[in-house]
Amino acid sequence: MTVLASGSKGNSTVIASAGTRVLVDAGLSCRELLKRMAMANEDPSALDAILITHEHTDHVAGLAVLARRLRIPVYFSEPTHRAWVRQMTPRTTMTYAQWMEHVQKEKEARAAFDALETGEAELMTDLEAASGEDDPEEDVPEAASRRDPASLPAVEYFQPGTNFSIGDLMITPFTTPHDAADPCGFVFESASEAIRMAIATDLGYMPPNVKRALERIDVLLLESNHDLEMLKDGPYPWAVKQRVLSRVGHLSNHATAEFLSRDYDGSATYIVLGHLSETNNVPELALLSAEEAIRERGRLLGNRVLLARQNAPITPICL
Ligand SMILES: [Zn+2]
Ligand SMILES: [Zn+2]
Repeated sequence: MTVLASGSKGNSTVIASAGTRVLVDAGLSCRELLKRMAMANEDPSALDAILITHEHTDHVAGLAVLARRLRIPVYFSEPTHRAWVRQMTPRTTMTYAQWMEHVQKEKEARAAFDALETGEAELMTDLEAASGEDDPEEDVPEAASRRDPASLPAVEYFQPGTNFSIGDLMITPFTTPHDAADPCGFVFESASEAIRMAIATDLGYMPPNVKRALERIDVLLLESNHDLEMLKDGPYPWAVKQRVLSRVGHLSNHATAEFLSRDYDGSATYIVLGHLSETNNVPELALLSAEEAIRERGRLLGNRVLLARQNAPITPICL
């Protein structure tokens, strides 16, 4: 697991097994994501797919440009894809029948494009161009993307609660309580390596299905969004404070500590605290709170707690 960015201003994480590499969320600009990957020694052309947890901007800001640049499929749940398309084309309203037609047309256009698919060499040129100074949107190869900002090289649907595979990675999306169309977290399992990793951010509280999903995890990226006092006394307008605090908002340091001390099974070698608010949290506070919760349970001292960062990738976690 390599967390390229985590926090209210952008999220993106690379998960890799021996044979498969996926990017979870693309919440920074394409250029910034490519820069972060370079900083973390991650080769973007080695990515097999992009997975999206939900359509909030801090998870999708660079999605369309990056996916088109790398020409890799994007995995969404259908409601999330639909919400994202609506977000990208705000002036278009679609009935469900029109949406189904749109999806079908997209499929046909992609099939036609695949038939004309150019080779690997051109992809590399694109990647090199992307890391340059030019606006990454400028030299996107497909003219289609200029007409439709939501066009993607390929779209695959998953359903939260139903697992699916990409290469040798088995992925189980699980529903999270959050104010988006169909938000989810993911459990990743590499059968050959017997290692399980999970991403659980953007959740208002810890419902039983999430607690169950987070059992027997070796590397866990877990939200620790805000300090309750800082949020209450902080500068956010009242309505935003209510949203963050709600059952479909974000996990506080306190809620995360409560999960760690009461429900967590202690199996992770690494717990990475993520999605910290820059306004309503202090990394040291989040860390202290989680470490205290773990210390209360003596047998969990083997668990290392790390902090993901907003402005830089963390050192890749390899098991
Ligand atoms: Zn969100
Ligand atoms: Zn978020």
